[in-house]
Amino acid sequence: MERATKPHFVLFPWTGTISHIIPMTDLGCLLASHGAEVTIVTTPVNAAIAQGRVDRAGAAVTVTAAPFPAADAGLPEGCERMDLLRSQAELPRFFEANRGHGEAVARYCLREARRRPSCVVSGMCQTWALGLARELGVPCYVFHGFGAFALLCIEYLYEHRPHEAAASADELFDVPGPPPFQCRLSSRQLPPHFLPPASVGGKALRGMREFEVAADGLVVNTFEELERGSAALLAEATGKKVVAVGSVSLCRSPSLDPQSMSGDARRCMAWLDAKEPESVVYVSFGSGGRMPPAQLMQLGMALVSCPWPVLWLIKGADSLPGDVKNWLRENTDADGEANSKCLVVRGWAPQVAILAHPAVGGFMTHCGWGSTLEAVAAGVPMATWPFFAEQFINERLIVDVLGIGVSVGVTMPTENVLTAGNAGGSETEAEAEVGTEQVKKAVEMLMDQGPEREERRKKAQELKLKAKGASEKGGSSYNNLETLIQSFI
Ligand code: UDP
Repeated sequence: MERATKPHFVLFPWTGTISHIIPMTDLGCLLASHGAEVTIVTTPVNAAIAQGRVDRAGAAVTVTAAPFPAADAGLPEGCERMDLLRSQAELPRFFEANRGHGEAVARYCLREARRRPSCVVSGMCQTWALGLARELGVPCYVFHGFGAFALLCIEYLYEHRPHEAAASADELFDVPGPPPFQCRLSSRQLPPHFLPPASVGGKALRGMREFEVAADGLVVNTFEELERGSAALLAEATGKKVVAVGSVSLCRSPSLDPQSMSGDARRCMAWLDAKEPESVVYVSFGSGGRMPPAQLMQLGMALVSCPWPVLWLIKGADSLPGDVKNWLRENTDADGEANSKCLVVRGWAPQVAILAHPAVGGFMTHCGWGSTLEAVAAGVPMATWPFFAEQFINERLIVDVLGIGVSVGVTMPTENVLTAGNAGGSETEAEAEVGTEQVKKAVEMLMDQGPEREERRKKAQELKLKAKGASEKGGSSYNNLETLIQSFI
């Protein structure tokens, strides 16, 4: 539809992780597909990623790079994401450089940009966006990358603080909420906002909270039918507009152009093509999730001994100890032999395309919200292995509320990059919490034929249809995007 005046949305993705660049770029493509003018302003390294996605989507989105003064903050040039840090001790410098990036973005928006924004949508760590929006006289929406249920739980935790009455970090308590949203967690499993203040995390997290409390609204990558009214409850709890626009990954076709596929992507897809329908366990813990080597070995032994073929993404494989590397070399396949049992991918894999492949029957995930929503959109049941952040809350949603997952039974978080004290010394020494037999049991529950698996599969397929319906013309997310855009005309 041609609009009289196109509102101009300016997006500032949180630069720290690629898992924020991805959905915010998709959000930009979606807004553009609804007729809005869209500019994404991010760091040079991340702008290249965003531009690639925009080009592949064929979307009319402008991607602009604003400097990220890494070197001024004592970081290597080009160190513009947290996965590029040499150690976690560099996090304060990263946040300092991010403040400098904010100043560069402000210079661009106030002096150079061709057109002023109608609205800014900012990643939750780009706290400088609020002052800029106020100077521009436009509303500032926050995009967390979390789901509405997790954000709602976080509001209830701020309000009722049940964790403060817990006798120990492992004692389970109820996060109060209306049915079916009561969820039981331990203090250890809470998002970083509620963990004991840590060297870097405390100050940054307080700033983020002040930012979200002062912002005008929330844009959430979810669809209303998925989280059973959480978005409306979140609006009530925060007193803000909450706009559910997901699943944003559905703005792209999952099929890949063979010309543009990386070697890893080609290997994955060719290997999957040779597998039976719904026979493969896909294992991935997000864009950067790394488990301690001892834990990785327990997981690996379960995966190579289970009867199903396994596609396993391992991040940070180069820094694994020699004995683990040797074990992986001897027990798994890195070359993508069509008939191999366990294909290990060390680089970047095309997750949305993998989840949409008919050979995939189950997904072992760290419950990152991006992965969770992509699995929902593909109708794939999950085995849940939360690492940190809001992932233990997402696990409760997947397993208890939606009934589309089995819990591996992890109780302890894996080291959190935002609150860890230094360069991951504890990571290498950490013991495995989950043994091989426990992992095998979860994989069996996920993949075995039987009424429970069938029930999970059925629910996952129903949600897949609802996800698609929400994004189509007349669907809830489609309408929410339209309403948001109309409010600026
Ligand atoms: N992802 C991918 N290929 C990889 C690893 C991750 O495409 O090899 C994408 C995945 O599809 C998702 C994002 O990275 O969009 C991970 O986001 P999530 O919120 O699940 O986890 P995080 O990385 O923030 O822990």
